[in-house]
Amino acid sequence: MTTAIVVHGGAGAWGEVPERLTRAMPACIAAAQAGQAILLAGGSALDAVETAVNILENEPVLDAGRGSYPNANGEIEMDALIMDGSDLNLGAVAAVTRVQNPISLARKVLEHPNHNFLVGAGAEAFADQIGFPRCEVADLLTDENLLHYHNHKNTTANEAHGDTVGAVAIDSNGNIATATSTGGTRHKLPGRVGDSPLVGSGGYADNWTAAVSATGHGEALMKIIISKRVCDLVGDGLSAQAACDAAIQMLAERVQGTGGLIAVDARGQVGVARNTNAMPYAYAIDDKPIVSGK
Ligand code: ASP
Repeated sequence: MTTAIVVHGGAGAWGEVPERLTRAMPACIAAAQAGQAILLAGGSALDAVETAVNILENEPVLDAGRGSYPNANGEIEMDALIMDGSDLNLGAVAAVTRVQNPISLARKVLEHPNHNFLVGAGAEAFADQIGFPRCEVADLLTDENLLHYHNHKNTTANEAHGDTVGAVAIDSNGNIATATSTGGTRHKLPGRVGDSPLVGSGGYADNWTAAVSATGHGEALMKIIISKRVCDLVGDGLSAQAACDAAIQMLAERVQGTGGLIAVDARGQVGVARNTNAMPYAYAIDDKPIVSGK
């Protein structure tokens, strides 16, 4: 059975500071390599996407975990979603602070017997209750983001994109999974939640069709439930690539949105699409060398 992992580092405004893209690429490659190693050792797609996203969350140039963009109050609120395509179980958190790896907290929510989505203070109380590692805001806020925040303090939230991270994978048992993690958009209002933690929007995974992770203008992506749409198009017979292309076209035409998608279908075929100026990505199929691009 083919194994595959695809990761992305967000369809953000990469053109503004090209040097940041140069820093993001090695993190994407490292994340794909780590996921590939798990899959080749017989590990699960769920473990592969969580580990890959942990690596991306830990890279300060990317808008997730350390490196998350501050909101309008200079605080950090992060969102994450992880989904298991074998039974459609999912875990999501939104507006969480002082957590280095929100995707792993989302994984703990996935493992909860009764709940799927926890937000804000409740999600953090849950973290403390289960002994999940906490950190300080200073551990998440980079000097670069702090400087940007202070220089643009009085501007409104006009930067629609972050550099959200995500991963999708299929394992040797044919199980597929997705994970998406973000600090959200710059200068967002406190309490604002984008598409990333919303099932079907920021990600979707179903063994019957595909796993998808989305990035871009959250307020547009959520309107067309873009990740579920890609899965449905794969169910209709499109390849992962054709489905991603069609969904991005619909994003532009129906809601004038911009963003990017990665997908892997139940046959291990990969799709990558965007209508922004860049989106760093990397993928690995079976034991083949990593393919990367932007
Ligand atoms: N989709 C994310 C959000 O709206 C941002 C991004 O992917 O760049 O929070």
